[in-house]
Amino acid sequence: MDRVSAKILIYSLLAGASALAHARPAADLIVTDATVYTVDRRHPSAQAVAVIGDRLVAVGSSAEIALWRGPKTAVIDAHGKLLLPGFNDAHAHFIHGGEQLAQVQLNDATSVAELARRLAAQVARTPRGGWILGGDWDETRWRPAQLPTAAQIDEVTRDVPVFVSRYDGHAALANSAAMKLAGVSAATADVPGGVIVRDAAGAPTGVFKDAALSLISRAVPPASHQERVAAAERALALAASVGVTSVQHMSADYADVAAYSELQERGALTARIYCAPLETGWQDQAKVGLRRAWGSAYLRLGAVKGFADGSIGSRTAALFEPYSDEPGNRGILSDEMHPPEAMRARLMQADAAGLQLRVHAIGDRAVSMILDIFAAIQQAHGYHDQRMTIEHAQHVAPQDFERFAQLHVIASMQPYHAIDDGRWVEARIGQQRAKTSYAWRTLLDHGVTLAFGTDWTVAPLNPMLGLYAAVTRATLDGRNPAGWIPEQRITLAEAVEAYTMGSAFAEFQEKDKGSITPGKLADMVILGANIFAIRPEAIREVKVETTIVGGKVVYQR
Ligand SMILES: [Zn+2]
Repeated sequence: MDRVSAKILIYSLLAGASALAHARPAADLIVTDATVYTVDRRHPSAQAVAVIGDRLVAVGSSAEIALWRGPKTAVIDAHGKLLLPGFNDAHAHFIHGGEQLAQVQLNDATSVAELARRLAAQVARTPRGGWILGGDWDETRWRPAQLPTAAQIDEVTRDVPVFVSRYDGHAALANSAAMKLAGVSAATADVPGGVIVRDAAGAPTGVFKDAALSLISRAVPPASHQERVAAAERALALAASVGVTSVQHMSADYADVAAYSELQERGALTARIYCAPLETGWQDQAKVGLRRAWGSAYLRLGAVKGFADGSIGSRTAALFEPYSDEPGNRGILSDEMHPPEAMRARLMQADAAGLQLRVHAIGDRAVSMILDIFAAIQQAHGYHDQRMTIEHAQHVAPQDFERFAQLHVIASMQPYHAIDDGRWVEARIGQQRAKTSYAWRTLLDHGVTLAFGTDWTVAPLNPMLGLYAAVTRATLDGRNPAGWIPEQRITLAEAVEAYTMGSAFAEFQEKDKGSITPGKLADMVILGANIFAIRPEAIREVKVETTIVGGKVVYQR
């Protein structure tokens, strides 16, 4: 028996004897004088909490919790500030994000000339043989909003290979040095599920989309173990500073798991990680007997991540009807969906092995096809609380909302995408389809569980931006202050729940995480302002004061 269970046992024995009731064990940590918003419907609010070891043992008034104080108890006086359960990002590319924190930053470049200038500066910092990666450029920020080309950056980058991503990760720009190293030329054939953007003469312009990204990325030397560990450390520091205490790492490489594993061994994981490697490798997890949510409180496996299509931004999301601004283009299914029966067969086997299925689907056609596959799996294996998720679920055909509910499919969504994409997405899909896009309200009204996250690095990791997006739907360009498709806004309480309990449910952790409830892991965050008491527009400015994971302070502002 460990120390904590011993204490709890002793307390249980003593609790029955009223004469000895004062002799309760001392807490290791007390947070007092807080405005506690628990996300626990049975006890929605409180003032203070007590923690023993890594778990909450009591939630109540400051006076009640003071009884848990002993000579060695650490006490945090929150001075009335808001205490929430830690945020659980249900969809992030965490180590990639950590890598990118040290890479060239192109996201706010407002012209191709600025993009080239920043790449030129990065060339000077790049060691011999190194690649320039990352970037997150966004051509919608410059005029005309055209994709960049290798020719525009070759002069400043010369023989240093460049492969910088569009911010949605569904397209990237290579320079000529990179294409040469990768052996890509006008003679290179197209790839199913991908696009090689070509000029009039058929030569690649430098932009590759979706499955065609691998034509270049396979030439990029993989990150070393030490590089991944360092990237994870950078990402963990950022997560702690913005109150993210759990992360569901989508499309994790096994080498990422190894990096987390080392950090766990060192006691250095300051956020809890659930990894979902690609579904194409489902047998790897199945053959060692891993099932959903397998592992420790800090590091778990047992999910597989699939892709059904691309993104709206890259016009590769699969739609029923053509893009409104590109007749004839209905987007493309991913290479995993060539053919869809192969995807269904793999997911069927992964489900039979007890693995959780999490599938990226953005366009209404892709969402519908994945619902078909999930329905077929449930028909074959029965429904037994598998918690299948559709990741993103951005554009849903009206007839499919009811199917989400019937099939108990979780919608794992990233509210920030709505205020980012909302700047331009209506031009791509038209007014009618926009009404059921990023449709949190409709999904909740159908009884669908929402799990919120960011898709970091596609969106910033900071949960305040997601909450702000969910309640305002005010697009980043300032053009929709009253909300873009305002009828799809949700309440702050609903958004916080999706970002805590909803995400916990999506990773089978709702008994251990997601609310401030005695017995659960002591993962909490103190905010600098009460987001329930301020104007919704101000939520995005709110800073985290203190982040606590497993009863330990991992960030203090
Ligand atoms: Zn993603």
